[in-house]
Amino acid sequence: MTGNIVLNISYVDKTFGGLQALSNVNLEIEEGKTHAIIGPNGAGKSTLLNVCVGRIKPDRGTVTFNGEILTGKEPFEINQLGVARVFQTPEIFPQLSVLDNVMIPAFASRDGSFEFNPFTLLSDETKIRDEALRVLSDLGLGDQVNNVSGSMSRGDKRRLELAMGLIQRPKLLLLDEPTAGMSRADTNRTIETLIRIKERGMTKVIIEHDMHVVFSLADKISVLAQGAIIAEGAPDEIRGNPKVQEAYLGGAQI
Ligand code: ADP
Ligand code: MG
Repeated sequence: MTGNIVLNISYVDKTFGGLQALSNVNLEIEEGKTHAIIGPNGAGKSTLLNVCVGRIKPDRGTVTFNGEILTGKEPFEINQLGVARVFQTPEIFPQLSVLDNVMIPAFASRDGSFEFNPFTLLSDETKIRDEALRVLSDLGLGDQVNNVSGSMSRGDKRRLELAMGLIQRPKLLLLDEPTAGMSRADTNRTIETLIRIKERGMTKVIIEHDMHVVFSLADKISVLAQGAIIAEGAPDEIRGNPKVQEAYLGGAQI
């Protein structure tokens, strides 16, 4: 039995020059679930996520979110509908403090723009600051809140970007390799955080290379290879699928 479908990717194609990065991709993401997209480097995973958030326009096909067509909308419009993303390369404001980085998207998602009047919203600002501090300490960044974010380690920047996504309380969170570049301890901490937010019912799509992360979090896995979905199913089905092992790891066990 399938639940409510929140994100629907239908017949999506994308070519870059002569390269077919996505080929007839169809995907349904169920409400409250964590759906992992795995596949070898260059499979098209990041391209697919970028199509969902409006950064890349597909040549064909549509993406709908709760019945609303996202294709053709600008990234900020898609964000305002409740879709947040954490990119493969952290996109932070390097000259600002860690805390400010997390507060900015909270103002942006509340007001629909980065423009706000600080004088009328002081009480909200206090609440947002408290929430930002809570999210940061949840992710183990509580002792770095006043540091300049540009000087953080790569793994810490990735957790900061995750905090920037989480504070928006999105309906759908898209994560592109959230634990890449992290130590094992930070990876485990991030997994714990992602499990906690799953308990709160947030729908997530996660692209991930680390099989420990995938099998700790995913309810369902889709496998992308050379731009096409080659398999889909529960983690146990995917783990034992010879086609997946062949495409993903050249025959090695996963
Ligand atoms: P993955 O995230 O699965 O590693 P990507 O989606 O980043 O794969 O890339 C899929 C393919 O599309 C790769 O061959 C990559 O080189 C190519 N590609 C991605 N983005 C662009 C771009 N903006 N211009 C040209 N080629 C691109
Ligand atoms: Mg990628």
